[in-house]
Amino acid sequence: MSQNSLRLVWVYPDLLSTYGDQGNALVLERRALQRRLDVQRVDVRSDQPIPTSGDIYLIGGGEDRPQRLAAERLRRDGGLNRAVANGAIVFSVCAGYQILGHEFINDLGQREQGLGLLDVVSTRGEGDRCVGDVLADIDAPLGLPPLTGFENHQGVTHLGPTARPFARVRFGQGNGTGDGTEGAYNETVFGTYMHGPVMARNPHIADLLIKLALDVNALPPVDDRWYDALRAERIAAASQPA
Ligand code: GLN
Repeated sequence: MSQNSLRLVWVYPDLLSTYGDQGNALVLERRALQRRLDVQRVDVRSDQPIPTSGDIYLIGGGEDRPQRLAAERLRRDGGLNRAVANGAIVFSVCAGYQILGHEFINDLGQREQGLGLLDVVSTRGEGDRCVGDVLADIDAPLGLPPLTGFENHQGVTHLGPTARPFARVRFGQGNGTGDGTEGAYNETVFGTYMHGPVMARNPHIADLLIKLALDVNALPPVDDRWYDALRAERIAAASQPA
């Protein structure tokens, strides 16, 4: 791809955008524009084919029935798998994260096949729903500051050997397995339970995706003081005794 253009694809906003996940598309666009990149954003509804020529794909969270419909349509379409085979970057949240794994439990209580783009399997948690604020340390090789966010899920996600934990929680549940992991990733595909929307609180994640898509090590700096102050506030709040 040319070094100064970026094609963003927001997958199925009609099914998977329950928790303000559109914010991730807006933040990605903004961060790219701040670097004077030529950004094109395509929103793909679930009755449309997934284009395979995107650089970065976003797939959000959703309730259990839309999640099943999205998984069925994405499996049938096959475009997201083809895009990843072509080297595209994918960032997924919650229901979208579960769909990218091998399987999850659907609204009918049945095992639903995912896209197998991440080596994870999601089951239905037996305990309370995981709801609340999260503070987590992002996997060190990614070189990002701590992650703050909000989670709301019943599913519990188990990582296989080729998925790395995206982060480890200091506060909150994350994958819900009790091992402190939060989310998962491989070279090009990322999943997290953080809503929020997560990039509005953690814009360095948008920068990471842009760098991977452009295959560059660094981007021109932008003014992050507001975000840094928000993160410091969340870290201070999470450190307070309950
Ligand atoms: N239905 C899934 C669960 O509860 C995902 C929910 C979500 O996207 N917030 O685990």
